[in-house]
Amino acid sequence: MTGLITLPAASLPSNLVGHVFGRLTVTEQLGRTSRGQRYRARCLCGSVWEGYGYKLKEGSVASCGCLRRERCAALGRSRAKLEDTEEARDVAAVDSIREGDEFGRLTAERCLGGKSPSTTVWLCRCKCPDHNLVDVLAPNLAYHTTRSCGCLALDRLRRRAVRAAYQFEHAIAAFNERSTKRHARLQAVLDGAPYERVQMRFLREKRRRKLRDVQEENG
Ligand SMILES: [Zn+2]
Ligand SMILES: [Zn+2]
Repeated sequence: MTGLITLPAASLPSNLVGHVFGRLTVTEQLGRTSRGQRYRARCLCGSVWEGYGYKLKEGSVASCGCLRRERCAALGRSRAKLEDTEEARDVAAVDSIREGDEFGRLTAERCLGGKSPSTTVWLCRCKCPDHNLVDVLAPNLAYHTTRSCGCLALDRLRRRAVRAAYQFEHAIAAFNERSTKRHARLQAVLDGAPYERVQMRFLREKRRRKLRDVQEENG
């Protein structure tokens, strides 16, 4: 169940209806037995799942079973074999990689060998402008845990940084505007204007401004 977001059990409420676990969305509460509360959930594939809430909470169930079936189909191995050994899984995964295969931004260029299927390494080239070369463990390629030279994570950070800078600039502008106006109001009070009247005028203007904004929005 790698790659699926599951909340820590502590932060989950006692009623799981409406919560999402992997592909499952809990739709209703069923009966309670000595093993715990049972639930019904709808899977993204359209099927219905029924089972215990603790399985959802601990993250041992994340689909109606379609996830596992898909993974088996992708690896071309039987379900029994897949579940039996990690090794069988890695053999299948490594076997399926060919030169020229693409995994995210990476293209497999040459197999560099390894002592076992799980330690087999592929030389890959990244699609980023630098066309970086990287050596990647075959299982990490096959299971899509490595999808770039590292540039994907960097891109994500860059996007976040740009957004943060934008928000920061807006916050500064809003702060400055507010401060300037407030300073002027309070200076007027210092200069002798009654505080109540200054404050009343401020609130009136604020209300008028709000009204105008609403009217503008409604065209
Ligand atoms: Zn499903
Ligand atoms: Zn890259």
